[in-house]
Amino acid sequence: MKLTTKIIIALLAGAITGLLLNLYAMDVFNILDKFLFNPAGKIFISLITMLVVPLVLFSIILGVAGLGDPKKLGRMGIKTIAYFLVTTALAIVIGLILALSIKPGKLGHFDTKSAEFSAEKAPPVSETLLNIIPTNPIDALASGNMLQVIVFAIFVGLALTALGERTKGFYNVIEQGNEIMMYLVNIVMKFAPYGTFGLIASAIGSQGLSAIKSMGVYMIVVLLGLFIHAFVTYGSAVYFLGNMSPLKFFKGFAPAIGVAVSTSSSNATLPVSMETARKNLKVPEPISSFVQPLGATINMDGTAIMQGVATVFIAQVYNIDLSLTQILTVILTAVLASIGTAGVPGVGLIMLAMVLQSVNLPVEGIGLILGIDRLLDMVRTAVNITGDASCAVVVAEGERRRMDREKESGKRNLSKQ
Ligand code: ASP
Repeated sequence: MKLTTKIIIALLAGAITGLLLNLYAMDVFNILDKFLFNPAGKIFISLITMLVVPLVLFSIILGVAGLGDPKKLGRMGIKTIAYFLVTTALAIVIGLILALSIKPGKLGHFDTKSAEFSAEKAPPVSETLLNIIPTNPIDALASGNMLQVIVFAIFVGLALTALGERTKGFYNVIEQGNEIMMYLVNIVMKFAPYGTFGLIASAIGSQGLSAIKSMGVYMIVVLLGLFIHAFVTYGSAVYFLGNMSPLKFFKGFAPAIGVAVSTSSSNATLPVSMETARKNLKVPEPISSFVQPLGATINMDGTAIMQGVATVFIAQVYNIDLSLTQILTVILTAVLASIGTAGVPGVGLIMLAMVLQSVNLPVEGIGLILGIDRLLDMVRTAVNITGDASCAVVVAEGERRRMDREKESGKRNLSKQ
């Protein structure tokens, strides 16, 4: 049986098991969760997370060195960041339009008196961006500061390109290190179906359906936004800009989507999403090495959709009308918030506080959506990493076309001579 099929079966089986135990045998669930679901999930997440930092370091160094020309890196960087910004802004707009027209906050009764949420201090985005250059790369690696690791790896890659033959030995070590990591990704993935089953059973079993009832419309609006963005925005991007059928794209990327749903973490899914994009979507290694780690760190379209819908929802529940300027402020801060959101479970909600504060909405409103956020986190994380993969496909196609054009003009010049 193919791994994708196994993961999908594990997702469904985990969801059904969790739900049934939640409804009929909560005692049994508690025991199974403690000794089976939770440990299986934890082991799986730890196994893949173990590979993230070394994999990002090695693969970006190799990717940048493999490009050979710093100009190529600059071009790719601009295209990637432009794609991330445009799709994230689109994502928020989709979320806002849906929430403003369906009005989930006006449908139903919400108890604002008992809503509680104390905003954890999220680091300001400006600080994250200013700290992008690591003063101590070892510290960045040890604490898993992805942006800093990416920047350090780019510098090392550029140095390898400049020094050429003189650093061949070091290049070989990094190349072998990368191979070892990719080999380990394949081994760890064999455990994915069990990990997925444990994670989903644990999440659904502890949440159940009761939290969903009153929040049904809000959830539907967020899910609708996520589906529209995934299928329409990414579908058209890969079709028109990436020269790939959307069906092939989603089918090929399915294993990574399954892992994202179960782990709710873009970072933890990174090794799998890189491997899947290379193998199934034929994204060249240097491109996947650059685009996907960067995307897993700063490109969070699914999170942005949730933040757009949640902001309007909370405004509606508290009977506050948002002016056009406030809506524009939400778009801007939600783009920044999603850049600042780390690719780990639940952080999107913490960053939502920043969006709410920017338009003076009550932060305790987050308390209303807290209960069901764990479930939505699964789907939005899947959208987050699918956005990165769609960008990799688009950038790869752009580079391929460019190479074709360069070859053509080279041939023409030769025949002229
Ligand atoms: N869990 C999300 C991710 O890792 C971030 C979030 O929205 O909380 O992509």
